[in-house]
Amino acid sequence: MYYQVEKMNGYYRIGSPESVYCYLIVGTEKAMLIDTGYCYGNLRETVRQVTEKPLIIINTHGHCDHAGGNAQFNEYCYIHEKDVELCKEHTGRKMRMDNVKRARHSIHYETGEEYNALPEGFDMEKYCQMDTGKLLSTKEGDVFELGGASISVYETPGHTKGSISLLYQEKNIMFVGDATGTFVWLFSYEATDLKEYIRTVKKMYGLNAEEYIGGHNPVPMHKDDLKRYIQAAQEADYSKGEPFECFFSNECKPRVCALDGMTMADMFRPEYAAVVISEEK
Ligand SMILES: [Zn+2]
Ligand SMILES: [Zn+2]
Repeated sequence: MYYQVEKMNGYYRIGSPESVYCYLIVGTEKAMLIDTGYCYGNLRETVRQVTEKPLIIINTHGHCDHAGGNAQFNEYCYIHEKDVELCKEHTGRKMRMDNVKRARHSIHYETGEEYNALPEGFDMEKYCQMDTGKLLSTKEGDVFELGGASISVYETPGHTKGSISLLYQEKNIMFVGDATGTFVWLFSYEATDLKEYIRTVKKMYGLNAEEYIGGHNPVPMHKDDLKRYIQAAQEADYSKGEPFECFFSNECKPRVCALDGMTMADMFRPEYAAVVISEEK
């Protein structure tokens, strides 16, 4: 099976070889799928093997690794309206083709080894024809009742302008997508300035949540971690940052600004925290 489904405390974690996690919450009446990943495999079938209940789909933001599989579903997908245009760009043909090429030569983030993240029998043409899926807009204050599980929407801009996080009230768990974490990308045009990102993490900190779950790191974050992320953002100084090269960052020359002069070599230390910013941010 391309996807790995793990039962966690109150939700399912659906992992795929390209280090992206989608989350599934199953209530007594309905189920909710948080993000749809790049979706190189059959996510719909994977979800349906867990539950046949009516499905609500939500994108934490419009990036290709979070909304790429919307079109595999007949159901509507909720997204913040500020990320709709971004979602169109990120689920378009050009972006999909680039992503597939990269996925064929994926690099394991810890071992540095190359591997093919695509499933057997992957149909490139079918994949590149997929679009945004059927989008509906959601905003702060919306609450989705799944039956014994109430999920509320919070606007958490920073990584993108329309990033949202979802609080599972009964479990005090917040699903944050890429809105915060040890290594937050804030350099591209769709990101906000640092001030707004700091406001977002402070807001998350003040909420009734014990665990914060990200879209790429399987380890839950806690309030102590959020404190470090706020500090890293407050102390970020582009002029002292470490240049960061990635596949689409050439024009904005991002730099990694980590706490206490740590470098990317320290990334796997528990005390590491960084923001990746461009000069204007
Ligand atoms: Zn993202
Ligand atoms: Zn992501």
